[in-house]
Amino acid sequence: MAALITGIHHITAIAGNPQKNVDFYTGILGLRLVKKTINFDSPDVYHFYFGDELGTPGTVFTTFPFDGARKGTKGTGEMTYTAFSVSIDSLGYWKERLAKYNIPTSDVLTRFGDKLIRFEDHDGMGIELVANNNDSRSGWTYGFIPKEHVIKGFYGATLNLKAKELTEKLLTQFMDYKFLAEEEGRYRYGTEGKPGDIVDIVIDKNGRQGVQSAGTIHHIAFRTANSATQLEVQQILINNGYHVTEVKDRNYFTSIYFREPGGVLFEIATDEPGFAIDEDEAHLGELLKLPDWAEVHRDKIEPKLAKVQLNVEKYV
Ligand code: ZN
Repeated sequence: MAALITGIHHITAIAGNPQKNVDFYTGILGLRLVKKTINFDSPDVYHFYFGDELGTPGTVFTTFPFDGARKGTKGTGEMTYTAFSVSIDSLGYWKERLAKYNIPTSDVLTRFGDKLIRFEDHDGMGIELVANNNDSRSGWTYGFIPKEHVIKGFYGATLNLKAKELTEKLLTQFMDYKFLAEEEGRYRYGTEGKPGDIVDIVIDKNGRQGVQSAGTIHHIAFRTANSATQLEVQQILINNGYHVTEVKDRNYFTSIYFREPGGVLFEIATDEPGFAIDEDEAHLGELLKLPDWAEVHRDKIEPKLAKVQLNVEKYV
């Protein structure tokens, strides 16, 4: 049977100031702002999507920015680090680039044979860049990051949990994930084991519960091809006792949500229809886009959102 789940679709974080958030992910990291919309469950808050040129599933980091939000803390029951994939010889470039913007980076670390660096955005969001030559995706650039060094999309995600057994069972029995390897208390899973589908569980038995606020991950979404495969996944999860939501229309995909046993909010999102349904590919992310039900209230919604702009030319 073909796999119903094929890796990571998007990762969604809570952020602070919206303009700083856009500046960091477009200006410093060079991701494309592919959609500027609202949080469909909280229309007075933006929802930004950053990714490759078209926001291909597996490249999309998204944020709910709350200006003035308190910083959250990393802890158990959370996804703590988002890892992006870069070329094998790109870490030197990124260390230098991040230093230029006063962002401290870790020493070069080695994990399962890959070299990586770790740092945080201005909200404290945990980010890793994993150097590898196992990623054929081209990534994208506004033009100022050399093509050979661009971020290609996700490498993987780290879940920080008190125990792994129930989450491992969910991933490997019901979500098409396979156990790949263990190293120093880090357990690695993948659908194929390629950049974009890696999930690591780090066990922190006595760790404190994380506090969700600015600088922490809100949820991780896994990808499924379409509505039909999504309903199949939903049925499998329900049959096995998981409390899954109904299908929600997110305009650019449809979603179901449930909390995995370790406490992290999981989503299953469809690859279809994507971000080009309401904007021309050449102009993705330029205008505030609203779903039909909110469009009729645009005159009330738009004035409540702080103006944000792309400042990429300041980050060449
Ligand atoms: Zn989501």
